[in-house]
Amino acid sequence: MTAYPELEAAKAAWRHQPPPQCLSGKAILITGAGDGMGRALAKTAALHGANLILLGRTRAKLEAVFDWISEHTRTRPVIVPCDLSHLGPSSAESLQSQARAEYGRLDGLVHNASVLGPKIPLAHYPMSEWEEVVRVNLSAAATLTQALLPLMLETAATHAKQGSILFTSSSVGRKGRAYWGAYAASKFAVEGLMQVLADECAAEGALRVNSLNPGGIRTAMRRQAYPAENPADAPPPEARLDLYIHLLSDAAEGVNGQALDARTWPGVS
Ligand code: NDP
Repeated sequence: MTAYPELEAAKAAWRHQPPPQCLSGKAILITGAGDGMGRALAKTAALHGANLILLGRTRAKLEAVFDWISEHTRTRPVIVPCDLSHLGPSSAESLQSQARAEYGRLDGLVHNASVLGPKIPLAHYPMSEWEEVVRVNLSAAATLTQALLPLMLETAATHAKQGSILFTSSSVGRKGRAYWGAYAASKFAVEGLMQVLADECAAEGALRVNSLNPGGIRTAMRRQAYPAENPADAPPPEARLDLYIHLLSDAAEGVNGQALDARTWPGVS
């Protein structure tokens, strides 16, 4: 019996089969690593050799992922309980110090944590909830990126390898849809942030910056967004991980400024 049956089942159907240790020695920070897609990515990246900084809101969930990774891989994770709705420049800066102290490097940054907010007409959308969605989905990603850029650039220079920043998008971040309010608007803005940063990084080439839409996956957010849907109709997060692992690995060197879709990759996004 394999330790991670969901991954084994999904991996057989991956369009791209990354080499088993393609993330070996890399240090990668994943936000929202305690649940859903972030948890699946954390376990899978560790199985591919990455040392992970697991950032999330709920300590117990992060501890469970930490325990699994420690038991099933040879990598060394750390956990960082952190509510991104309160992330300011100084706490982001201390995250950089922590990454430096733990690993002395940072090769990858995955902005995965998000909140859905209410799915209601704009006319009735409470602005306090709007602001929270934008803080978590957009502003925290910008703040975290800004604080971690120096360490990522240093890492790229020292190891002569491009670093990778991944923003998580959504179908409604590429085409607006009624009632998706702040979530859709924040995901459009995430695409803009990705393009700005990718363009800033293009000339030097030390970092690649891309966005990725995982498509509908069986998680708590999906259940919240589509309460009437049979959960079994959506694939598990593991089914869409091959693009994430590829973009974090050296095989994706030079892929920059792309808005990708895990369902259609490597086709047209
Ligand atoms: P989940 O709701 O299952 O998980 C979200 C994760 O983000 C949780 O670990 C949660 O932590 C964390 N998080 C939420 N708010 C905060 C916060 N304030 N501070 C720190 N961590 C926080 O979502 P998914 O796994 O489904 O989504 C992952 C990404 O994929 C998101 O960016 C989402 O927008 C995107 N996506 C998902 C789709 C889907 O069908 N599921 C479709 C398209 C895009 P905790 O559990 O501790 O609250």
